Amino acid sequence: DDDAAYLISLIRTIPDFPKKGILFRDFIPAMSDPRGLAIILDAMKRTLPVKPEDFDLVAGLEARGFLIGPQLASDLGKGFLPMRKAGKLPEPTYSQEYALEYGNARIEIEQGCLQPGQRVLIVDDLIATGGSAQAAARLVEQAGGQVAGFSFVMELNGLDGRKALGAYPVTCLMNMP
Ligand code: IMP
Repeated sequence: DDDAAYLISLIRTIPDFPKKGILFRDFIPAMSDPRGLAIILDAMKRTLPVKPEDFDLVAGLEARGFLIGPQLASDLGKGFLPMRKAGKLPEPTYSQEYALEYGNARIEIEQGCLQPGQRVLIVDDLIATGGSAQAAARLVEQAGGQVAGFSFVMELNGLDGRKALGAYPVTCLMNMP
């Protein structure tokens, strides 16, 4: 529809960023546009992978998951849990290492912010190989929580990111060729 075409028109594509061979999809121009931002948030709320009553908390991956997660959480009456790159949070933390599309990384959450048994919706701007999202799921489970599902703004086609997430419910607003 009109909104989908408008949103796609605002996604910027940058060849060879941040490394040669990577076709980088940038949603910042969509976020910085008032209509683009409204479309992203409305569409995410309309296409949640599980009903709002079936999760307790929204978790977002540093850094672009922080741009959408807190607003989405607040609009749904949930809390927001930041999943940070290693070394930024005060101890004690839970920690998971993973392979990224470009390089290696480790993400952490602060202990005591996710209660055992809480059901978590994980959000990020983009799923490529699914490695980051998979690490985020392990982090939730390490803390005794349950993964309710995943919500992404963009999905890169052909990288089998969804397969890496197995049976967890997943929704994405845009498929990028
Ligand atoms: P994955 O772990 O391979 O699924 O990569 C997804 C993670 O890397 C997310 O946290 C993204 O923010 C980031 N990422 C990978 N490729 C892109 C891209 O083309 N645009 C924006 N972020 C990307």
